Amino acid sequence: MHVDRKPFDPGLAAWSELLGAGPEYPELTSNEVADVLIIGAGFAGLSAARRLQQLQPYSKIVLLEARRVGEGPAGRNSGFMIDLPHNLSSKDYAGDAANDLQQTRLNREAIGFAKEVATEFGMSKEAMIQSGKVNAAATKKGVQHNQDYARHLQSMNEKHELLDAQSMQNISGSSYYKSGLFTPGTVMLQPALYVRELAKGLSDKGVSILENSPAISFEQTGGGWSVLTPKGRVAAEKCILAVNGHLESFGFFKRQLMHIYLYASMTRALSMEESKMLGGEDRWAFTPADPMGTTVRKISNSSGNRILVRNRFTWSPSRSISENKINSVAPTHDRSFAARFPQLASADMQYRWGGLLCLSMNTVPAFGEIEPNLFSACCQNGLGTAMGTLSGKLAAEQVCGHASKSLDIMLANAEPKRLPPEPFSSVGANVYMRWAEFKAGAEL
Ligand SMILES: Cc1cc2nc3c(=O)[nH]c(=O)nc-3n(C[C@H](O)[C@H](O)[C@H](O)COP(=O)(O)OP(=O)(O)OC[C@H]3O[C@@H](n4cnc5c(N)ncnc54)[C@H](O)[C@@H]3O)c2cc1C
Repeated sequence: MHVDRKPFDPGLAAWSELLGAGPEYPELTSNEVADVLIIGAGFAGLSAARRLQQLQPYSKIVLLEARRVGEGPAGRNSGFMIDLPHNLSSKDYAGDAANDLQQTRLNREAIGFAKEVATEFGMSKEAMIQSGKVNAAATKKGVQHNQDYARHLQSMNEKHELLDAQSMQNISGSSYYKSGLFTPGTVMLQPALYVRELAKGLSDKGVSILENSPAISFEQTGGGWSVLTPKGRVAAEKCILAVNGHLESFGFFKRQLMHIYLYASMTRALSMEESKMLGGEDRWAFTPADPMGTTVRKISNSSGNRILVRNRFTWSPSRSISENKINSVAPTHDRSFAARFPQLASADMQYRWGGLLCLSMNTVPAFGEIEPNLFSACCQNGLGTAMGTLSGKLAAEQVCGHASKSLDIMLANAEPKRLPPEPFSSVGANVYMRWAEFKAGAEL
């Protein structure tokens, strides 16, 4: 079977660029044999490798990545590893309490797993910080969302704190926000650093990582799978596909997955004067009160004080986009930044980039054994850092026949719902996203 598309994400993401060159892994140029082959070195693929190492320390694990580790969406996101539900397809962030409790438990299992691996592999402090996050409201509607959500958290017995406009300004230096809702469970990643250090730890412990080695075709051989790359081949008893939306490029779940590009920009390092003028805390992380609004984050580390903004969604059923698309979303990023930080008028964006995300209409993953000995840990929906980690971990458990309650929950999910036929789905999705962005108003 042919893999019909290679991954592409536009622009150089700040996170990798700020780190400079990372460890290099070889390209596959020979015929290899493995017990388990994993395709994709994002959160899912790397976490699957880690869990396999724990459960079957003597297995030969090979991990193929089409690009360099950290260049894909896992190294391109805003770095929020969120414990509480945050459903991109819901009208607000609150939902059914039983589902939310279950989702929270799963997200926390993922965060716990990531924290454990960060400690075991001696990751840098910058890779992962348990700081919590604030859901920031810039409109009356946003304030109402936060209040509803706070009530919902109360009923779940979850810690939270409502913040007024002054507190929001004290944190961020911006007078833009009317209120905020702080929850302590979110872990903030330097995403490229986290995936690089995770890969390095795995490689040191014997996982064979091969970069610039895209799977281009695959076939069933005996009971296992044989996967071809441009210069080599891997034959394995079992194979885990950890390629998120590119699962469709492998011919699975066709017209059941929604492919959406997200975009971010990051400023240059603020000067001492600008940092002083801005005030506020060294680091903070704001999600928007409206799901279509702007995520804003301030980092303060070896690369200086910088601000990231993330907004705009574009629908891309082909899982590909022109490099120029970044230019068309840049004005929205600049407007959102200027509205929040008029005092930083000359702080230009140094980096702009985009990345592919995968959702399903019924917000379920594409998870489980999809052919004999071929497993999928894909379609992470809105919380991909946590759900990617969890689906990789659980796919490894399924491969090893290791029973767990979380695995049962994942396997009990329905299949991703089929999308309406074209052109209706593309027209519908584009109209919906533009309308929802318009409705987000000042949250954008
Ligand atoms: C701008 C932006 C901001 C985001 N912010 C957040 C956030 O704050 N919090 C959050 O939870 N999520 C966020 N996300 C989403 C999150 O990054 C993804 O959901 C997450 O990376 C999914 O993890 P994954 O391992 O399943 O897939 P990916 O990270 O996409 O990894 C899949 C890997 O498979 C590789 N691959 C694909 N095809 C092949 C092939 N044929 N052969 C070999 N390798 C292949 C790809 O190169 C890629 O490295 C954001 C995304 C973007 C783009």
